[in-house]
Amino acid sequence: MRIAIIGGGLAGLTAAAYLSDHSDTSGTVFERSPQLGGRAFTYEKSGFTLNYGAHAVYGIDRHTLHSMEEELHLKFQSKQVDKRKVVYAKHGHLTPAPLDFVNIMKTDVLTAREKVRFVAEIAAVIGNIHHLKQHRTLGDYLNHSHASAEVKELWEHLVCSNFFITPEEARKVSGEVIAEYYHNLFLSGRPVSYILGSWATITDQLIDKIGDNEAWDIAVKEPVESITMEDGKFVLNTKTRQQLVYDQVIFAMPVQQVTKLLEDTPWASTMEPYKNNTSTEVLVYDVGFSKVVARPFHYISDMDHKIFISDVSATDYTVAPVHGQLLQGIAYLNDDFTDEEQKKQYLELKTQQMEALFDKYYPDWREFVEVKRVSKKAMVASVKNIHTNKLLPNRLAGVPFFFCGDGCEGKGELAERAFSSGRAVAQSILEQAQTKALTI
Ligand SMILES: Cc1cc2nc3c(=O)[nH]c(=O)nc-3n(C[C@H](O)[C@H](O)[C@H](O)COP(=O)(O)OP(=O)(O)OC[C@H]3O[C@@H](n4cnc5c(N)ncnc54)[C@H](O)[C@@H]3O)c2cc1C
Repeated sequence: MRIAIIGGGLAGLTAAAYLSDHSDTSGTVFERSPQLGGRAFTYEKSGFTLNYGAHAVYGIDRHTLHSMEEELHLKFQSKQVDKRKVVYAKHGHLTPAPLDFVNIMKTDVLTAREKVRFVAEIAAVIGNIHHLKQHRTLGDYLNHSHASAEVKELWEHLVCSNFFITPEEARKVSGEVIAEYYHNLFLSGRPVSYILGSWATITDQLIDKIGDNEAWDIAVKEPVESITMEDGKFVLNTKTRQQLVYDQVIFAMPVQQVTKLLEDTPWASTMEPYKNNTSTEVLVYDVGFSKVVARPFHYISDMDHKIFISDVSATDYTVAPVHGQLLQGIAYLNDDFTDEEQKKQYLELKTQQMEALFDKYYPDWREFVEVKRVSKKAMVASVKNIHTNKLLPNRLAGVPFFFCGDGCEGKGELAERAFSSGRAVAQSILEQAQTKALTI
């Protein structure tokens, strides 16, 4: 069975690693960029390891990576972010983020009475009996809830940080999605960890695995430009080659790009419900210092401006030179602008707020900057998981392809959905092949 995988990001590489583990498969991973990894692309600069997308893993002990570690024999180490060094800033005052029972008791974002209420809410989520899952959205739940304004703000803020969206958008996330997400996360003994060495630690091993099967190859700088079906086989044309024939095709790229590729094909109309999906975008401010400028905490979330700064090197010491420090600032963004000028001004304001936060907690940081990368429009999730959007299923009725990526149905959010959907499509292709072989 010959398989084409279009897209060499986390989802495509995961699917290829599972499939190439079987000797009776062959195939190609097509990637349009010169490098693999997609939004998890990692690069070195002046001794710092920078990711295009961050490499925080939420609930690693219950994460798809845990299954991949066993099934694909991946080897990686992770380190948990120190929960006692995770703080919220509200009206200029710092207080522990209520990540676990100890922090909940210490935090000032809730009063003693509200703490009892919030612990009861967590217990209900863990026990799978929280009312949230019966509500269409978090907003609907909060409108009905008798909780205090502080508890409501905390719910919004949690969803902002895990889904990388603004409070207004957090209110649009489905109650069921949130209940399931936090059921998993609250049961985890390791809420936030970093993979030591960034995403490259994982992607390099997936690439090596694919390379172990000689019947597989990876074609970079080779975008797939068109696809047709002839005599039950798929025929692909790329920028450099024509008439490449495959038995199966996996799309492992953002749904917006799938829609474009399938334009003017018989399958275009089936993509209609997914065409207007919106993505999650953030402003990212990576900065590497020649020395540790300050280390008062490892993660600070500014509740007033919806900005956070992670001291990535405080947890993953491999990403900075021995005496250096790597910070990553992220601002959640609104996307309701009347024109480009308004958007430009908004992004400028967010950049200034970010720099003001650096000034406050990392005084004189500008003097020690070794590397800096500011991206005003980074796509975190190709489909924002709000109730008005629709994640793409791994298979669609009447469409002969498979779909995976962070905009597809799968377990978890962000990178976990890329991994879990990549794994799921590979497993269903292998199961299908096995069933076919048994019936012949
Ligand atoms: C700033 C930022 C912070 C993030 N933080 C985290 C985090 O802390 N934790 C977490 O879990 N996730 C995080 N993410 C999200 C995570 O990076 C993504 O969910 C994940 O990388 C998506 O992988 P993917 O394979 O689905 O898609 P992609 O990475 O987009 O891969 C798709 C690939 O397809 C290729 N392609 C497109 N069209 C074609 C074509 N026609 N032919 C060939 N190739 C094509 C593209 O070049 C791309 O390489 C973050 C992302 C960003 C941007």
